[in-house]
Amino acid sequence: MKTIGLIGGMSWESSVEYYRIMNELVRERMGSHHSAKILMNSIDFSEIEQCQGSGMWECATGILTDAAQSLERGGADCLLIGANTMHKLYGPISESVSIPTIHIADATAKAIQTAGMDTVGLLGTKYTMVDDFYRKRLKDQHGIETIIPKGKGLKAVHEIIYNELTMGIIRDESRERYREIIDLLRDQGAQGIILGCTEIPLLISQEHSSIPVFDTTRIHSEAAVDFALE
Ligand code: GLU
Repeated sequence: MKTIGLIGGMSWESSVEYYRIMNELVRERMGSHHSAKILMNSIDFSEIEQCQGSGMWECATGILTDAAQSLERGGADCLLIGANTMHKLYGPISESVSIPTIHIADATAKAIQTAGMDTVGLLGTKYTMVDDFYRKRLKDQHGIETIIPKGKGLKAVHEIIYNELTMGIIRDESRERYREIIDLLRDQGAQGIILGCTEIPLLISQEHSSIPVFDTTRIHSEAAVDFALE
């Protein structure tokens, strides 16, 4: 079994899920006392959040490439950036190491294609929804169209992530708001919904959605376990 390297802490609320899911998958596939070989470098999310908020993404690059390189030195065979948003820096991070970096949007695209869909809604931080690093990759490399919320809906999705989910706060009102937004995206043609922020699955699961959901935390974890057991 290969060792999975995870840059965690973005936020740690979702790193816990990565850790649990990867271990559960290895147990399901290998049985008995087997568990995943994982190295995690868990960073201080406040530092990242400040870089994002000030638009100074370069300062986050240093933190994340240092983390990536420490995982490679420690013996990781592949790398996961444990957040959709920080895939904005996928280029410099993946180039800073010689082990493969498994892109969360590529793994998600595969799941969408397996489900036979080509148009999906995307929920995530405003950076993931609005900047082109995520949607453009889905479109150009995988032929998948994404629909995002507009105006107040977009603002609500983003604020609930930063003001609640990344701090471990789960509120029924926020779940209702997400459900309304999912229904709107469905009415605009979304066949499924990408839960494109690794904390959203803490709030929304399949039972809360009128259309199929793509849980990026689980999908990314599965891709890593596939690699580790290949
Ligand atoms: N975990 C989040 C994501 O998947 C948001 C936190 C961050 O900005 O990194 O995008």
